[in-house]
This record gives sequence, structure tokens and C-alpha cells, in this order.
Amino acid sequence: MLLNGRRDSHLDIDIIITTDRTMMTDHHGKEFLGFMATGPSIGLPEFLWRYICCPKPKVDEYGRPIVAPYGLRKVEALMIDHGFKASVIDPDYIDRYIDDAKVLMVGHHDYFAFGPPSSEWWLITRKDPVNRKSFIEFMSNPAIKRAKKRGLKIVAGGPAAWQWFWEPELWDRFGVDLVIDGEVELVLPNLVEKLINGERVPKYVFVGAEDYPDIDRIPDIKYASVNGLVEIMRGCPRGCSFCSVTFKTLRHYPIEKIIREVKTNVRYGIRHGLLHSDDVLLYGTMDVIPKPDPLLKLHEEVLKHYRTIAWSHASLAAIVVAEREYRLMSRLTDLIYSKGEQEYLGVEVGLETGSPRLAKIIMPAKAAPFSVEEYPDVAEEAFAIMHDLNIIPAATFILGLPGEVEDDVIRTLELLDRLKNYRSILVPMIFVPLGALKAKSAGIKGLKLTRSHIEVMKKALWHSVYWSDRILKEFYLKGPKYMPLRLMLKAFISFIKWKVGQIEKEISNLEEVTLAITDLQEAQVKAVAQS
Ligand code: SF4
Repeated sequence: MLLNGRRDSHLDIDIIITTDRTMMTDHHGKEFLGFMATGPSIGLPEFLWRYICCPKPKVDEYGRPIVAPYGLRKVEALMIDHGFKASVIDPDYIDRYIDDAKVLMVGHHDYFAFGPPSSEWWLITRKDPVNRKSFIEFMSNPAIKRAKKRGLKIVAGGPAAWQWFWEPELWDRFGVDLVIDGEVELVLPNLVEKLINGERVPKYVFVGAEDYPDIDRIPDIKYASVNGLVEIMRGCPRGCSFCSVTFKTLRHYPIEKIIREVKTNVRYGIRHGLLHSDDVLLYGTMDVIPKPDPLLKLHEEVLKHYRTIAWSHASLAAIVVAEREYRLMSRLTDLIYSKGEQEYLGVEVGLETGSPRLAKIIMPAKAAPFSVEEYPDVAEEAFAIMHDLNIIPAATFILGLPGEVEDDVIRTLELLDRLKNYRSILVPMIFVPLGALKAKSAGIKGLKLTRSHIEVMKKALWHSVYWSDRILKEFYLKGPKYMPLRLMLKAFISFIKWKVGQIEKEISNLEEVTLAITDLQEAQVKAVAQS
């Protein structure tokens, strides 16, 4: 193709691996800003909102993003290692390749905004979240439709693969040939081969634990990942019934493998990284007691290459054991901060509930090695440890779990009250059936919010507004480089304060509010059909 009299640089590829802009972005190097894409634009024009949460990353002359989501990088490496001509391409550049491509692969954390916290934003604001709009816009690209008519095959995967069942009309309309759910290393190359050869493959493949790869079958990424994310292990031993990770068996990456991926990132100029695991503190152990040696060694090695790091997830019980038994949280943060490059550490933690009764039913091992009855105390102790060590958690908790009774919600309210003095962001989530509960549940029907639910959500919101303000000022977006972003976020927080005040007035007399995502979904599909 000629552009301004010049021929576009072109790769010889058969497989385009991509996703929409809310995923193909570096979030300005601040992973946490990505959360904004899970909501609709509120108080800001949508283009500004999108600029804050999902700016376009740099691309090379071929339209390949310099950084891409880690999951896409893994699939890219897998396909290349199996002899396919494949590359991650930025969504703005797929037109350059789509007419010659044989397969378009897409991945996402939350294709249609049914995952947390998108569904909560959607339910509360009754406006489509940005991630949903962006993905539907991307898939509606006329070039994809044209290529589809010619015979392009489309494969969708990633942690949100299950959401296609909730959008059968879009599954059909976009002509997705295969939706694949789970760890794909051992099965995807063969399925893609079949698709390319015109052989029949199932429309949906769920990869069970028996098909999960050993670590040596998981390829190393070949190019840089968003925010320097590198996986350090897969799986979690706690087995919470609402969690899809439950299906995964525990496997640890050897340090050499992790460092190879870190070095790949460094080669592309990425010097700030994120260690990814469902519980970083369980690296190197097969039970729930953190082990100092592998953890310290891992951090020492990674910090030889990265200037700063963050953790994806840690469990509250592991934080408490690590500190009580080995002063391990203090030793790890001493190590991380000793480079003088960072003064705080971000992490996501699952608080889930403040009710030991409910915890016993849905997550009996969450507090292990402590008893489930101690869970609220363990949670508070973990928050206190993190506060003292400048670890800033984004803590999620779930409302509307099957079996939840009013008293459980009140216990959660009490726990949130105990956490008010600890620097943190609290994120309520409305139950979405995943993990073992997926089979038992009728699905996403919505939630009858009782007065206690509303009180819990209000408490979490005011807590998060208060602490966000302080975190922005004291830690997160310091320095002149982030001034425009800081100002926009401050304006947003002021707007939220005003808006919440209004909503509080509106619902102050109501005992119950019913939110139903299925109504919204039907409305959305109808709106698309009419347009
Ligand atoms: S919710 Fe967290 S602790 Fe529970 S099984 Fe999932 S990853 Fe493990």
C-alpha cells in the first residue's frame, strides 16, 4: 500500500494477533490506570478518558507495538515456535495485513465488560463501559468483515473467553470460528493448523488441567510486554470456589526463565516491571507458607535488571505469615526500595468478604494457615503491615455471592470500617459466576442491592476517594511529567464526590435497588442491531 508516496513497511505474516485499544496500551506505565477502561467515561469527555486509561503505545515501522499484553506475547511466541508466520500488530495497523492474513487472533481480559469491576460500573451508571465499546468498535472494522468474507478465520481466547457465551449474537455477527478458554500451549497450534487447512474444529474449546503445559512447554516471550509484566508461576493452592484460577495446577517458573523474559523487556527499553502470579508470595513453595529463600533470590535477580517492580497479586494470609515468621515483607520491601528508585509497591489483594461464615463456604483455605474464623483479624493485620511498608493494595471484595445473607454483608461492612486507617483502594465487585460456582449458578442475572449492600459500597467508595487523593499526592503520579494526568484525575475525583452525593440523595429512602445486567445487555444488542 502506498502512503504519502511511500510504500508501507510490510511483514510476511499469516496470523495477526491483536486486541482493541483498551488492552493494547501501556496505560502511561501505570497499570492501575487501566482500571478506568472498565468504566464508562464519567465527568470527562470520552476521548480524554480514553487518553488517560489507554493511550496508544509506540509502534515500529511495521505497525508492531513496542509493548503488548503479556498473554498476546505468549501466544505470539507459541505460534512462532511452531513455525507459523505470526506477529502481534497494533489494532490501528491491522488493515495493512488483514487482506492477506489467514487467521486473526484476539485476546482480552474483559471482552464485553461482564467481568469485575466493569459489570459494577455498568450496573451503577447504566452506561456501557469503555472496554466493551472499544472491543465492539474494533471487531466492527469493515476490513475484518471484508477479510471474513474472503475466508479469514477468527480465534478468540484469554481469561474472558467465557464471555462469548453471553453474546451469542456478536459471536455470530463477528464470525468468530473458535473460542478457546484456558491455557492454550498444548492445543492451540494444532487447532490453528486445522483452521488454516479448512478442517472442522469445535466452536468452543475448554482446556482442562489435564492439558495444562509443564513449565518447559511454556514459551518465553520474544518481544516486550506491557509494563514489563513477567509471569513467575501459574496456579494457586487455595481453591476458592468462585475463582477460575482454581482450575489451574501449581507450577513455578525457574528464576532463569523469568530473567530471560525480564531481559527481553530490558532489550526493548522497559525498566519497570510487574511480577505476575495469583499469589506472588507463594513463589517457590507448594503450600501456603511463603519461603524466604526463593522469594529473596527472585527479587534480587529481577532487580538487577528492572529499576522498579510491582506485584500483581498477593494473599492477605501469606502477607501475615511472611511477616510474622520471617519478617519477609520488611526484607522484601527493604530490598525493593534499596535501589532508591521506588518508595512504594502496588499490589492487588482479594479481601472477598468480612464474614467467616461465608468464607467457610466459598473460600475455606483463604485464611490458611490460620483458621477461617480468624479471617477478619488476618485481613486487618495484613493491611496494617502493608500500610507500614508503603505497599498500596487495591483490594477487591464480592457482593451477592451465592449463599450470602444479610449478616454476611454487615460483617463485611464492619471489616471495611476496621480498614479505614490503612492506605488502600477498596473495590466492590458484584458476583460473576466463575470457577466451581459457574456450574451451579444461573449466571449473571444482576443483584438485588439491599440497604446493607448500598452501605458497604458507599463505605468502600468514600474510603477509596479519600485514599486515592492522598496516594496521588504522595506516591502515584509525582513529578512534573504526570502533572496533566494528575490534574485530570483530581478533577475526576471531585466529580465523583459530587456525583456520589447526588446518588446518595436519590436512593436515601430506598430499602432495595435491583440491578440487572441482562436488561442492559438486551438493550445494547438492540441498539447495535438498529444502527
Ligand atoms: S481467589 Fe485468589 S486465593 Fe482464591 S483460588 Fe483464586 S487466586 Fe487463589
